[in-house]
Amino acid sequence: MTDTLTPVKPARLIINGEAVDAASGQTFTTVNPATEEPICEVAEAGVEDVDRAVQAARAAFDGGAWPKMKPSERQRILWKLGDLILANADELGRLETMDNGKPIFEARQIDVHMVAGCFHYFSGWATKLTGETIPVNPGVLTYTLREPLGVVGAIIPWNFPMNMVGWKCAPALAAGNTVVLKPAMETPLTAVRIGELALEAGLPPGVLNIVSGPGAVAGEALVRDPRVDKISFTGSTEVGKHLMRTAADTVKKLTLELGGKSPNIVFADADLDAAVRGASNGIFYGKGEICAAGSRLLVEKSVHDEFVAKLAERAKKIAPADPLDPKTRLGALASKGQMEKVLGYVQTGVREGARLVAGGERQPVNGRGYFVQATVLDGVDNQMKVAQEEIFGPVLAVIAFDGVEDAVAKANDVLYGLAAGVWTRDVKKAHSVARRLQAGTVWVNAYNFYDAAIPFGGYKASGFGRDLGPDCLRDYTQVKSVWVNLE
Ligand code: NDP
Repeated sequence: MTDTLTPVKPARLIINGEAVDAASGQTFTTVNPATEEPICEVAEAGVEDVDRAVQAARAAFDGGAWPKMKPSERQRILWKLGDLILANADELGRLETMDNGKPIFEARQIDVHMVAGCFHYFSGWATKLTGETIPVNPGVLTYTLREPLGVVGAIIPWNFPMNMVGWKCAPALAAGNTVVLKPAMETPLTAVRIGELALEAGLPPGVLNIVSGPGAVAGEALVRDPRVDKISFTGSTEVGKHLMRTAADTVKKLTLELGGKSPNIVFADADLDAAVRGASNGIFYGKGEICAAGSRLLVEKSVHDEFVAKLAERAKKIAPADPLDPKTRLGALASKGQMEKVLGYVQTGVREGARLVAGGERQPVNGRGYFVQATVLDGVDNQMKVAQEEIFGPVLAVIAFDGVEDAVAKANDVLYGLAAGVWTRDVKKAHSVARRLQAGTVWVNAYNFYDAAIPFGGYKASGFGRDLGPDCLRDYTQVKSVWVNLE
């Protein structure tokens, strides 16, 4: 294994502008899934810590330290945070890779730029969130004000721990809200480090608080707290449903970005070599631990055999390897539990009648780690479990189809609606199929493209509300209508 020797300092909570221990003094150990070795101790937030963090966020909002600051000043601080993230790219990339198991190529070359890009992009919005004047009657002046919500609770998962800090915090803060962020227990390190950088950038105390702790304790306390105005969540559909029920008690606003089972559709008229690369990146990038992973590959019957042969050949070459090696493209799954879940699904698929044409096994690197081979299951029926349930690993289910109608019907015949891919050289077909797919994002002759400026979120059971792009700012603001009687 490459360079895991430099010690990582223990991570603390960030509450009211200070790095602090948990009130209970409790800590937990975060583990490197590629080596199965401890990385460092992390302060474990309990109910009392969440209470302190919410109080700090509330005071920073109600006292006006952040929402009443000149928007251009907020813009300057958020831009600076983006710069500091880039200046610390090597450290952040390495922390993310050690904590999550993803290749350093992804963490350092892609995720760091995405999270910095979020702070840069949304910093610009701080000065551009405007209301409208609306002509109603000459006797009144009617206008709207776009105002922040207050305290936002952000609950994020372990698959893109660093990106999610940018996706949630950058727009919430740009709009003038304050934030209490709860990272996932598996991967708290980059969120805490970005919290420290935010203070260095000049974020006033209490504006961004980080409370790493168990979802059932710290997350639950955040969702129940009446002083929190909104919860922005990314994670499992099951927890998302639970949050909806809990949030109802305090009429909290919610953004839910939940699971997916996204179809990646290859028509016979596609550039098949490009589509093989796209199908492979669609599922093996991020170890398939991506909500939008192209986990159902729909291939037109006439090219099915040729396509699957090429894809299987490619998959066999993507061997799991040391995530800290810059050449590695398939890292370790984020936890032992996730690895076991993924391998369990492979067995289920085979039991249901699918044919394993690549991978399917755990493949330790240097004798350790939660690595799973790049796996392709062919001959999948769209009703099988491996076609309907989110596996969240490097496992692709290949389903054959016959013509456009069959492709669209199979693509939409699933609970989820997060993303989809379409591969074809026919422009008309590309656009008409894109319209008919029930998905929040459709990529044409591409897959897994993201940008801070492009809205991302789900149709159907994949959730509601949007991350990123101008649309998400609606979810972090509210509109006040003002009537002024001029007569
Ligand atoms: P969860 O939904 O449990 O975790 C996501 C976040 O929610 C974590 O921070 C977690 O905390 C927190 N959480 C859990 N329970 C509560 C609660 N009662 N109240 C408030 N917050 C809570 O996902 P899992 O880690 O269990 O992953 C299970 C499956 O979910 C995956 O296999 C995958 O299919 C899907 N998933 C989808 C993601 C997506 O991007 N849409 C991301 C992650 C998972 P804690 O620190 O305790 O885990």
